Amino acid sequence: MTAPDRRGDPPTIPVVAAAIERDGRVLCVRRAPGGETGGLWELPGGKVERGEDPRAALQREIAEELGCRIAVHAEVATTAHAYTFGTIELTTYRCTLTEGEPRLREHDDARWVASSELLEHADLTWAPADVPAVRLLTVAGRAEPVLMADPLIASIGVQECGEPLVDLRVDGAVASTPEQNPGNPFYAWLRRGLAERLVAAQSALPDGLRLLVAEGYRPYDRQVAAFEGHRRRLLDDDPTLPHDESHLRASAFISPPAIAPHVAGAAVDLTLVDADGRQLDLGTVIDASPEDSDRACYTAAANISAEARRNRAILGAALSGAGLVNYPTEWWHWSYGDRYWALLTGASHALYGPVDEPLR
Ligand SMILES: [Zn+2]
Repeated sequence: MTAPDRRGDPPTIPVVAAAIERDGRVLCVRRAPGGETGGLWELPGGKVERGEDPRAALQREIAEELGCRIAVHAEVATTAHAYTFGTIELTTYRCTLTEGEPRLREHDDARWVASSELLEHADLTWAPADVPAVRLLTVAGRAEPVLMADPLIASIGVQECGEPLVDLRVDGAVASTPEQNPGNPFYAWLRRGLAERLVAAQSALPDGLRLLVAEGYRPYDRQVAAFEGHRRRLLDDDPTLPHDESHLRASAFISPPAIAPHVAGAAVDLTLVDADGRQLDLGTVIDASPEDSDRACYTAAANISAEARRNRAILGAALSGAGLVNYPTEWWHWSYGDRYWALLTGASHALYGPVDEPLR
């Protein structure tokens, strides 16, 4: 349905798109020349008519555009994108062919592309509105977690919303400890939106459990020192490691400074404590490296105790439920509003960029 046109605002146009999947590949189509998105690649689909069910609209559009029938499965993402002609609200679904073979009627080229290569395929320039969903499909198609130094992350823009950092210690709702960070006087500071979501997550925990924040905001120079220190350790172990490879592997443990979510006040390292303030068993200490822990620091690791797995699940349910996302190589690292959050939620951009030190 088209939203009412208030005070001359351009209307929001509901659009649906199909990620038609077959044998690990996704059907990509190119728009014919002309208009703002002519010549760009997209997932096929089109506008939802007034009063029409979005999934039915998608089946109708695919029948019209490609002459075939599809089954519509789970939603990939819904994202808004402003073109000059108005704002598109695009919902993308995973789909499969049920009848017929796609034949181009409106588009001028088509490819079946491996989902792990969708966004970065050299021959495909995507229509901007499609990018968040295509990025999510690319992530889902990868065998390994996307690391912070991956070009997929750097390709996500930031539209700084200007929200302040707040000190978690002021109202004390969520516990924090400087134990981990004796050199960081700002360890308990976070963007307000993240701090509020932590309070919500904590209230969703089973009785008697609380969150314990080990580090939130981290000044830029500390991030540089920590990243370079870890990269040097990797190079000490293997001096033949190429620069790019050491950069990527170090980012499995700590973010490259230019895109670091802690430097934006958008990420938090935390664990669970009981009513007496004792830390629960989460399988490894916070900041265990993949090398030292045999990858037990990976959130989905199997080489931890059943109790630790249970505790990770409790932590994850509360934080995911409050809108945070986890960095899959670190069970303790959660974020909101940073590039990794945009990656995993299908947001078109990050909300928080790097910030100068808060006033003391
Ligand atoms: Zn972290």
